[in-house]
Amino acid sequence: MRKLFIAGALLFSLTSQAQKAKKAPKAADPKPFAATITPDDLKKHLYIVAGAEMEGRETATDGQKKAAAYIENHFKSLGLAPGNGSSYQQLYPVFQDSMVRAGLEVNGKSFEYNKDFSINFASAYTSTLFGGDVVFAGYGISDSTRDDYAGVNAKGKIVLVFAGTPPAQTGTTVRGRNPFAIQEAAQKNGAIAVLQVANGSPRRPGGNKGNMYVNGFRKTIYPNTFLISEEVAAAIMGADFNAAKEALKTGTTPAKVYSANVMLDFAKVTAQLNSSNVIGFMEGTDLKDEYVVISAHYDHLGKRDNVIYFGADDDGSGTTGLLDIAEAFVKAKAAGKGPRRSIIFITVSGEEKGLWGSAYYGDHPTYPLDKTTVDLNIDMIGRIDPKRKGDSTNYVYVVGDDKLSSDLKPISESVNNKYTKLELDYKYNDPKDTERIYYRSDHFNFARKGVPIIFYFNGTHADYHRPTDTPDKIDYVQMAKRAQLVFYTAWEMANRNDMLKRDIPLDAQFR
Ligand SMILES: [Zn+2]
Repeated sequence: MRKLFIAGALLFSLTSQAQKAKKAPKAADPKPFAATITPDDLKKHLYIVAGAEMEGRETATDGQKKAAAYIENHFKSLGLAPGNGSSYQQLYPVFQDSMVRAGLEVNGKSFEYNKDFSINFASAYTSTLFGGDVVFAGYGISDSTRDDYAGVNAKGKIVLVFAGTPPAQTGTTVRGRNPFAIQEAAQKNGAIAVLQVANGSPRRPGGNKGNMYVNGFRKTIYPNTFLISEEVAAAIMGADFNAAKEALKTGTTPAKVYSANVMLDFAKVTAQLNSSNVIGFMEGTDLKDEYVVISAHYDHLGKRDNVIYFGADDDGSGTTGLLDIAEAFVKAKAAGKGPRRSIIFITVSGEEKGLWGSAYYGDHPTYPLDKTTVDLNIDMIGRIDPKRKGDSTNYVYVVGDDKLSSDLKPISESVNNKYTKLELDYKYNDPKDTERIYYRSDHFNFARKGVPIIFYFNGTHADYHRPTDTPDKIDYVQMAKRAQLVFYTAWEMANRNDMLKRDIPLDAQFR
């Protein structure tokens, strides 16, 4: 009952608005263009995007670049303009370290990498140090609550600390959430390197190649930090080691300088790679300086030991949906029914690594975000959530539509009621939902800049992030309906008189 009332009121307000704004062109019918988004067409694209040739589309790899080229060619063939100056691709830097060597010696005894010690490549820099003193400094804490460096001068010295937090502070301090707190404290006290006694084995997984990262140029470069075994610590502290270990379980034990000849060696090479967002642009008519963004991520997990993670649903489905939505808008424009606002079709990469591409666009937008009325983000629309109760043949999860603009949800619902009639499931829009879906795809990088968003999602399934997420398992009929819903919603966003009002405080979304 209530829903019907709201929809009725909205329809009324839309009609009265349209009557008021005389210059607004008569609304065209989007149906014939939505009908060009077909299961067959989506299937054709998805078998290519999620095919073996694309090698799982891992960010900053050849597979990603092949997928980017495919998307760019599609945009070009449709006649879309490049969305980043004269280029369809917006490159952003990606870094990856390979270790060349690592060594650790105490008083002439050398220890074994990945058994007695390890090092986090990404935060370490190439250096070989020979130190004659080591400062033991408890848990390595040095702030307003506690100073494990009290009574010693750590300037220019290697420090040795234990991992963990003092018993009284377990789980209660900000420090527990700052991964660099120990390095910050060491640096503040003038230390040049940190040896941290690991809980358990210091072995790090993987080979000599580190993970990719984007923050290659750091505001602060911290002292190199080696995770060490208890044997290494005992070789430095001698008989004191066990006593210190016991004392730290209940509280503290004073800092102390140990005389020991310690050699710390680490060398890496850093490859400077790049990845890209692929952006196609369609100019609007009378409102062309305002924008609608449709987004999807085209990267996936790549290959592991030659096993391809195809990522057909995640997010080949959103990517191909976007390609077909773009085509539908091109056909509308060719028929003289192009959108009033400009439309930005953006496929981003780096999503699986940490929403990198959308974060980069959010910080380096090629069109102003304050003139971007909405981002409609599509990530996984080709499958069915087996956990979902009830009819699963005609639904989509809708997330975030009420977070920044009170305009958006009623519009989204009225468009769906009028055209696609999917069941809009708000399960993942509940702030208490433990999956925290709202923060887990690229729309979030628009929302954090204040752009109202809708995220379309089918939920996860047994093939999620597995090599078995393949194009043969897609429900193309349902996928087409969901893509059509995005098209209709974008159409409404692009053609209504006003941009969405931003009447909900930005901070309210971080509940
Ligand atoms: Zn994913």
